Amino acid sequence: MSERFRAILVDKSDRGEKGQAFRFAEMTEPELMEGDVTIAVEHSSVNYKDGLAITGKAPIIRRFPLIPGIDLAGVVISSTHDGFTAGDRVILNGWGVGESHHGGFAQRARVKGDWLVKMPETLDSSRAMAIGTAGYTAMLAVTALEDNGVLPASGDVLVTGAAGGVGSIAIALLAGLGYRVVASTGRLTEEPYLRSLGASHVVDRSEFAGPVKPLAKARFAGAIDSVGSATLANVLSQINYGGAVAACGLAQGMDLPTSVAPFILRAVTLAGIDSVMCPTDRRERAWSRLARDLDFKKLSVITSQIPLDDVPLVAEEIVAGKVRGRVVVDL
Ligand code: NDP
Repeated sequence: MSERFRAILVDKSDRGEKGQAFRFAEMTEPELMEGDVTIAVEHSSVNYKDGLAITGKAPIIRRFPLIPGIDLAGVVISSTHDGFTAGDRVILNGWGVGESHHGGFAQRARVKGDWLVKMPETLDSSRAMAIGTAGYTAMLAVTALEDNGVLPASGDVLVTGAAGGVGSIAIALLAGLGYRVVASTGRLTEEPYLRSLGASHVVDRSEFAGPVKPLAKARFAGAIDSVGSATLANVLSQINYGGAVAACGLAQGMDLPTSVAPFILRAVTLAGIDSVMCPTDRRERAWSRLARDLDFKKLSVITSQIPLDDVPLVAEEIVAGKVRGRVVVDL
């Protein structure tokens, strides 16, 4: 008889306006979806997208019933994939996991081996999930700034959504690489936290909330933005000549009320960041740089740990913008 394991399952609901509801379930391996690698999941994490998926605030889940959780890390139990054997430690971020394929909020997962990254030696599953999709996205964003010529000597780099998961890790990474980081937050009480991660200066996010001018005073060599909407538009209008912005999120909104002025008059680059379908070679490079460049002492300041039972509560909190840093789920 197949061993039972715990999971969160989101299903269609005939009650309530959200059209979906979650429950804690006991499942068996035959109930998992198709894949060539089966994993004992040790840790997962709660990302903003998981918050949207569980609360039903956005249509993230595209197949029901589904185990949410876009991140997972653990040990391979069995594999018919050439690249993995039992005992390998692995990380998975995105590829539709937690959206259309059963995800990380369960003690077991069966996935495609092509989606997996081997765990770098300096990481374990708890550390890997403290980084998670948020941290790996922050690394992709840092790389995009570097690729567009924004280097530590170029000038100040702004990080919006600073106290969130992507923002916190972006600050730690940039500061560690020698950048002067300006952190924009709606939670000024978090200034000591943001400075402990390496921010040189902390500003109120309301500075980027007003009416958008095509061009404003140029203040930043670059920016990592996880907020979108009017914030991103205001940030673009304040980037120095030849600078770049890595856009990776929509915590404020999906819209972008900007003009072409920053692009055609200041040669600003808007670099798009996607973690979900990012090709494997770029993922591996991002993870090996995270293992090398991220200060793990700072990572532990950023991280809190919860059991599976607390995931729904944290899902509500992250959508409300109340979660600081990263939340690891211990399976
Ligand atoms: P968090 O909730 O941890 O962080 C988001 C932060 O944005 C909040 O902490 C808050 O920071 C700020 N914020 C929230 N609401 C607003 C608002 N209305 N106006 C301005 N700022 C706001 O989420 P994550 O860090 O996990 O993700 C951040 C964003 O990046 C999300 O939109 C997520 O979907 C996206 N993302 C995209 C990825 C990709 O592949 N492109 C991958 C990972 C994430 P503060 O309190 O400091 O102001």
